[in-house]
Amino acid sequence: MNLEDYIRDIADFPKPGILFKDITPLLSNHDALVGCANKLADLSPKDIKVDKVIGIESRGFIIGAMIAERLQAGFVPVRKKGKLPYQVKSKDYGLEYGHDTLEIHVDAIGKGEKVLIHDDVLATGGTANAVCKLVEELGGEVVQCNFIMELDFLNGRDKLTSPVSALVTYE
Ligand code: AMP
Repeated sequence: MNLEDYIRDIADFPKPGILFKDITPLLSNHDALVGCANKLADLSPKDIKVDKVIGIESRGFIIGAMIAERLQAGFVPVRKKGKLPYQVKSKDYGLEYGHDTLEIHVDAIGKGEKVLIHDDVLATGGTANAVCKLVEELGGEVVQCNFIMELDFLNGRDKLTSPVSALVTYE
């Protein structure tokens, strides 16, 4: 199966000049959905027992939870500011224009826990880098950041110090 066939380009969404990578065709096809989760779980570090999988709001929640189930790990949501109900740790991060804030529950990651971070798209790497910092500040160790796809021309990998995996690369 070629996962690229299930990723749709939407021009000028959510604003002019952005080519949005829409994964809803992948999510709505059972074989593509399960195949994607299986492949990402297979790419996880073989010699490390992952304790928690983080999914980044919101598209990272779906496959992230499926990876957690396959790795017999817990699932932790990282959300935009103001969405999580309990005490949070927050991290500001830069966007192309302006900035945003991501949050995690303070008790979501235990000291020394091995953490795998998942999102749908690695673009500039600012989002995943902010999540890595949140994990480290809670005492966890990021063992991998994995993505359905990577926009290689934006050099997001350069911002991340943990191993990075992606199933589809756009040059
Ligand atoms: P970045 O912080 O630049 O790596 O952006 C990654 C975050 O923005 C991820 O949560 C993605 O879901 C989203 N994102 C960035 N660029 C795109 C794109 N071209 N298509 C879809 N989602 C994107």
